[in-house]
Amino acid sequence: MRIAVIGSGYVGLVAGTCFADSGNEVVCVDVNQQKIDLLRRGELPIYEPGLSELVEKNVKEQRLTFTTDLAPAVASAQVVFIAVGTPEGESGEADLQYVIAAAKDIGRALTQYTVIVDKSTVPVGTADKVRAAIAAETKVAFDVVSNPEFLKEGAAIDDFLKPDRVVIGVDSEKARAVMGELYAPFVRTEHPILFMDTRSAELTKYASNAMLATRISFMNDVASLCERVGADVDQVRKGMGADKRIGYPFLFPGVGYGGSCFPKDVKALITTARELGLEFDLLRAVERTNEKQKKALVAKAVKHFGTLDGKTFAVWGLAFKPKTDDMREAPSVEIIEGLTGKGAKVRAFDPVAMEVARRHLKDRCTLVERPYDALEGVDALFVVTEWNEFRNVDFSRMKALMKQPVVFDGRNIFSPSKLREAGFTYYGIGRP
Ligand code: NAD
Repeated sequence: MRIAVIGSGYVGLVAGTCFADSGNEVVCVDVNQQKIDLLRRGELPIYEPGLSELVEKNVKEQRLTFTTDLAPAVASAQVVFIAVGTPEGESGEADLQYVIAAAKDIGRALTQYTVIVDKSTVPVGTADKVRAAIAAETKVAFDVVSNPEFLKEGAAIDDFLKPDRVVIGVDSEKARAVMGELYAPFVRTEHPILFMDTRSAELTKYASNAMLATRISFMNDVASLCERVGADVDQVRKGMGADKRIGYPFLFPGVGYGGSCFPKDVKALITTARELGLEFDLLRAVERTNEKQKKALVAKAVKHFGTLDGKTFAVWGLAFKPKTDDMREAPSVEIIEGLTGKGAKVRAFDPVAMEVARRHLKDRCTLVERPYDALEGVDALFVVTEWNEFRNVDFSRMKALMKQPVVFDGRNIFSPSKLREAGFTYYGIGRP
């Protein structure tokens, strides 16, 4: 099939590349000239494991191209995906300005029957708004489909090629057949395509993210309780997860959820409910717990040191999770602001997010090239993102570099007993 993907960010670029890899002819469109120039030079604007190789292969085999020129890309496409950002608006709602702008541009460019797919995460009712925005610009026939994306940054290719499920909200038989054919290569191993109405598809995405955020906040509250009663959250987690009704995924306590999805999607769902006269009390509590949790590590440091004024700290991990360079709503930003706001200096390192960190953190901290460089002369280390390379480090080398051997482990990656044996004072999350 001929496909146009509008918006070449984390989702658009991965989706476009994976569709190309299954034999389709894909044009990725973006308004950001710099991004398109980079892609045309064979460079990626984002870090995502495996993506570079897959882009290179599909460009070489002439199934994948990049442009800022939306009209010709849409004119020749049978399916057009809208994968632009839907950031948080002023009152917590999803800001649809980029989706509607893209829809209008698509409407003006249509030349033949086309299936337009909302891939962005959008509130219930957006498919109707997109349909109206397109219809106002064209007399050409089209269908609007809702196909929310569930990929995880850091494992995006695998998630896209082998999804747990594909959710497709569609009200037309013709569009249903097109979508079924397009996704057939990705659901060969028993993973279902779930066809449903567009409103249910739109809500499925928010409800899924809200449920995952709820599990995280729940475990963070359990961890706080563990600290007070002298229990170990690692053991509690194992005991809970063994129950098939609960399961193990997403039961890790930490420094709070962040990233470009959970915070804004939880907020948007609360806002949608409120607009309809429903207070989603549970999700408001999920948010409150998350706000508290993002401050928990700095609070532990204040308790340990009394004052942070004049201290220097190392921060390992800036991306909101491992295997990505995404720092949108990353807990690291709030932790670094918390430390520097109390008069401390910060030396920070991340394996892939250094370039992005320069934009997000500006001159709020010193960015160093290697993890051990961050430790020189510091009063404590804060572990904020659980990159694998932080797990098996040399404790005696660390101790020799640091002014004080204190570790605040926001992801529970170290063994408390091993660190204490090595002469460190150790603070984790929910550990005695
Ligand atoms: P992103 O910010 O990385 O990419 C969006 C891109 O759209 C940008 O490159 C921007 O320049 C471009 N754009 C904006 N307006 C445009 C227009 N009119 N025409 C062409 N391009 C335009 O965002 P993302 O992380 O890829 O997220 C996109 C959507 O997917 C959001 O709704 C998000 O909630 C959802 N989503 C994201 C993830 C994720 O892990 N990032 C996962 C699932 C769903």
